[in-house]
Amino acid sequence: MLAAGAASARVGGLPPGVAPPVRPVKGQLLHLRGPADAPLATRTIRGLDVYLVPRADGRIVVGATVEELGEDTRVTAGGVFELLRAAWELLPGIGELQLVETVAGLRPGSPDNAPLLGRSAAEGLLLATGHYRNGILLTPVTADALAATLTGGSPDEIAAFAPTRFAVAAAAAGASR
Ligand SMILES: Cc1cc2nc3c(=O)[nH]c(=O)nc-3n(C[C@H](O)[C@H](O)[C@H](O)COP(=O)(O)OP(=O)(O)OC[C@H]3O[C@@H](n4cnc5c(N)ncnc54)[C@H](O)[C@@H]3O)c2cc1C
Repeated sequence: MLAAGAASARVGGLPPGVAPPVRPVKGQLLHLRGPADAPLATRTIRGLDVYLVPRADGRIVVGATVEELGEDTRVTAGGVFELLRAAWELLPGIGELQLVETVAGLRPGSPDNAPLLGRSAAEGLLLATGHYRNGILLTPVTADALAATLTGGSPDEIAAFAPTRFAVAAAAAGASR
C-alpha cells in the first residue's frame, strides 16, 4: 500500500510509470484562544476564503490557505495576514483573541484533486493518496474501501477514483495528437 501523502510521488523503488501524480499543496492555519466559558462561536462558520471551527477548550481554528509552492512549509506573514483578515471580516471579535499557534502542512493533490484509491498499474500495489483537502473527512470510507480491495473486492464507491485513470487520460491525449 502506498499512502505517503504529499510525498507519494517521491517514494523510491517503484517501477517506471507507477509513481502517482501527486503534488504538495501548502496549507496554513491558525489557532486562536478565547475564554472557554464565553465562546465567541459555538458553530463552524464558513466564509468564501476561510473557515472558523470552535473547539471545546475555547480555541478557534482558522483555516486554511491553499498555496501551490511545492515543498514549502514555512508559516508566512502573508498567510497569517490573509487568514486573520478573512476571519475578522466574518467575526470581528476575533481581534480580541490570543494567537496561540500557527501551522503549515502539505496536502496531497492529484491532477483533478480527487483521490487515487485502489489497484495501481503495479501488480499487488494499492494506492490510497491524493485526498487533497479532505483526507481527514475521507479516512473511514478510504479505510473500508481499501480493506475490501485488499481482500479481493472491487468496491463501487471507489471505482471513479482508480489510480490508473490518469494513465488512460494521457494515452488518449497522445492518440489524438
Ligand atoms: C492546513 C491544512 C488543513 C487541513 N484541513 C483539513 C480538514 O479540515 N479536513 C480534512 O478532511 N482534511 C484536511 N486537510 C487535508 C488532510 O490533512 C490531508 O488530506 C490528509 O492528511 C492526507 O492524508 P494522508 O494519510 O494521505 O497523508 P498524510 O497525513 O500526509 O500522511 C502521510 C504519511 O506518510 C508518511 N511518509 C511520507 N513519505 C514516506 C516514506 N517514503 N516512507 C514511509 N512513510 C512516509 C508521512 O510521514 C506521513 O505520516 C488539511 C490539510 C492542511 C495542510
